[in-house]
Amino acid sequence: MAHIGIAGAGVIGCATAIHLIEQGHDVTVFEKDVGGLPASVGNAGILAVPEIDPLARPDMILSAPRWLLDPLGPLTLRWQDLPALTPWLANLLMAATPANVERSRKALLGLMREALGAHGDLARMTGLSGHMKPTGALTIFDSEKAVDTAFRRASENAALLGHTVEKLDTKQARARAPALEGNFAGGVFSAGYQTFLDPLTLLRHLQANIRQRGTLVDAEVESVRQEANGVTFLVRDGAPATFDKVVIAAGVWSRTLVRGLGLKVLLETERGYNTTFTNPQVTLDLPVFFAEHGFVATPLENALRVGGAVELAKPDAPANFARAAAMRQKMRRYVPSLPETGGTEWMGRRPSTPDSLPVISLCPADPRIALAFGHGHLGLTLSAITGRKITELLNSGEKPDLAPFSIKRFQ
Ligand SMILES: Cc1cc2nc3c(=O)[nH]c(=O)nc-3n(C[C@H](O)[C@H](O)[C@H](O)COP(=O)(O)OP(=O)(O)OC[C@H]3O[C@@H](n4cnc5c(N)ncnc54)[C@H](O)[C@@H]3O)c2cc1C
Repeated sequence: MAHIGIAGAGVIGCATAIHLIEQGHDVTVFEKDVGGLPASVGNAGILAVPEIDPLARPDMILSAPRWLLDPLGPLTLRWQDLPALTPWLANLLMAATPANVERSRKALLGLMREALGAHGDLARMTGLSGHMKPTGALTIFDSEKAVDTAFRRASENAALLGHTVEKLDTKQARARAPALEGNFAGGVFSAGYQTFLDPLTLLRHLQANIRQRGTLVDAEVESVRQEANGVTFLVRDGAPATFDKVVIAAGVWSRTLVRGLGLKVLLETERGYNTTFTNPQVTLDLPVFFAEHGFVATPLENALRVGGAVELAKPDAPANFARAAAMRQKMRRYVPSLPETGGTEWMGRRPSTPDSLPVISLCPADPRIALAFGHGHLGLTLSAITGRKITELLNSGEKPDLAPFSIKRFQ
């Protein structure tokens, strides 16, 4: 049994803590904003197993200039942050070559094949049931050509993952989601998705489980110090805490701790916005992706959440909630009964790498330090499997199947 410290109690830090506790380790998690609303609680609540295509792809790079012209569109860049974002963007372009896309796709496929099973295990470890529903998801499009292209791609991914997909005309899509009263050309239904009842409830449940079986400390880890007798967290306004091993799982803020260890990392925020309507008049039985506009509407427990899109910006830049309003307005074209007002707006920070692969790795020069961050659009989906893999790394050392996720790729 080892004494293990974790920086960050988002869904990645919590899933990791629970796996380690389950293996008999004595775990202390540090969270700088207990009660805060990070990406882990405000996300779209979707187990997105079919999403094995990285963000950086030739088709995305070709569409990007058009998207960037619309400041409220699916992809925007805060231009004053361009100098800070340039190294990440340059690597995003390099990640979009066919060989690199295939490499990321293959690596994500390996994790996705285990993602659902790992969530089942995590639920059993924490006594959770009924928190996910096998809803599948519908993606709708404005043109038949877009439906055909998406169906071909979704079919390829479904064949690799073993779920079904269906091509739907407008009437068939409306049968799945009657609220879609506006005009559209058709859609694709994929059975590979599941919907969480509420990511906030899930995170609070995991945190409560850690409080019962380990320790959750309300404090910020300022830096990590390697010593002969252990690894020490230097804690803001608190005493240093020394552990046998540590895990850095602090979302985008991991980069400060990792750079303090002398390691390079390319980690920036793809910020997303949404609006949550409680007890909504509009109901959906499954998530509906408005793919050409870069957002999704998800039915959560007694709520409807509408949002997504990508804003490349520094993590602490002021929020631009006009982006949340723009997505509501666009959704009303398809769902005229969506209310104009009355929802709660939120902005969150996806911790993203240029190749869309998370860092699930040991520190190369010090195997007492594990790294678990950079899950981008897929952190909820990949949280449980990340917890399992980090536990294996700390128990048994590096394994070849995790090589694509190593921090070594940035050195
Ligand atoms: C709009 C939007 C929609 C999304 N939808 C989905 C979805 O449907 N499905 C999906 O799989 N993923 C989705 N995601 C992505 C997912 O939410 C993230 O990948 C995931 O939440 C990242 O989790 P994390 O624990 O790494 O980071 P975070 O959620 O950011 O948590 C990190 C935690 O670490 C704490 N912390 C930071 N620094 C320190 C420090 N120095 N000391 C102590 N604590 C610290 C922070 O306060 C925070 O609580 C979405 C994201 C967004 C923004």
